[in-house]
Amino acid sequence: MTSYDPDARRDTPLAQKLKQEIRKHGPIGIGTYMNACLWDQDYGYYTKGEVIGEKGDFTTAPEISQTFGEIVGAWVAVVWQQMGSPSSFRLVELGPGHGTLCADMARTLYRVPELSGALEVELMEASTALTELQRTTLADSGLNVSWRNNFPEPDERPTIIVANEFLDCLPPVQFVKTAETWRYRGVGLDRSGNLEFDVAARTDPRPDIEKLFPDADIGRIAETTATNHLIEVIENIARQSPTAALFIDYGHTERALGETLQAIRNQNYEHPLTSPGEADLTVHVDFSEISRDVEQFGADLAVDGPITQAEFLGRLGIIERASRLMSTNPVKAAAIEAGVMRLISPQGMGGRFKAIGVRSKDLPALPGFE
Ligand code: SAH
Repeated sequence: MTSYDPDARRDTPLAQKLKQEIRKHGPIGIGTYMNACLWDQDYGYYTKGEVIGEKGDFTTAPEISQTFGEIVGAWVAVVWQQMGSPSSFRLVELGPGHGTLCADMARTLYRVPELSGALEVELMEASTALTELQRTTLADSGLNVSWRNNFPEPDERPTIIVANEFLDCLPPVQFVKTAETWRYRGVGLDRSGNLEFDVAARTDPRPDIEKLFPDADIGRIAETTATNHLIEVIENIARQSPTAALFIDYGHTERALGETLQAIRNQNYEHPLTSPGEADLTVHVDFSEISRDVEQFGADLAVDGPITQAEFLGRLGIIERASRLMSTNPVKAAAIEAGVMRLISPQGMGGRFKAIGVRSKDLPALPGFE
């Protein structure tokens, strides 16, 4: 983690608001802090618009290359076929950002006329500023789109869910091992009244942390990715109709001690307490947590993967797609190649990002994961 530099600390409006709350009511949990930074109604990071892309604070795979969305679109088309080519189905995207992934998927999906006639799109987006951007991006897409600001409900139609860089926005829970037990980690105030990480008096009521890390030394931090609710949501949908979900995100596949909360502002990393509300806060996803949640909450579900983003995109033909695109746009060939290399390079996004599938048990293994 980037170190906490007192000189870099910015007394943002949200910092002032949180300090006042902490003075009154005591330290807040890491999840509460992250939620406030991203979603505070007045000062939250996602209340402003252009945060993603080369001009924003961070950029994402669909913003780097159109081939990403085209390949994910092809994945959706194959899953739809695996589901028996239903005459009506729902495609849900969680956290669609600028709407770029959805627009790029649409181009691929429209190549299958029977599918495009069957398709309705639901976008889950909590930011009004980003919803407006998505509306603009998708205005000419021909898609039948509706928006919601919370998780999708069960539906009679088969459901396909996709989400890129969504899980890393889910606030984690963090614990610190103390001499007696695991305690919650939170945000409190130092002697001068500045925000600081704090070990709350509250202990962990979840005995599983001790089971996961029985040998942790005193002072070590453990972090759990908050995917349990999401898996419950998918389980509920899958009880009603065939369901498949694809998650792509930055993260690790082996459980490990340590914490991963990070802040990015203007494409630079900073300590997560530096500019509350004005930096993007994310965590690395612990993909092993998803398998654990499915064991616990997903009686009707199975997990495919995780595999690296490079393997996923490679198996689904991103190189072939890029070659075709380059031969029809020779002028842009170098840029197309550079974008695809960025997505699949093993030392970069290709290795650090992982893909995982969650599906109804009776569906075959999802494309790319077989
Ligand atoms: N998938 C996009 C954007 C990733 S940024 C891309 O790849 O470019 C994260 C997105 O998830 C943003 O659109 C953000 O507003 C949305 N988001 C994050 N947490 C959310 C939540 N709890 N509810 C609804 N939307 C959320």
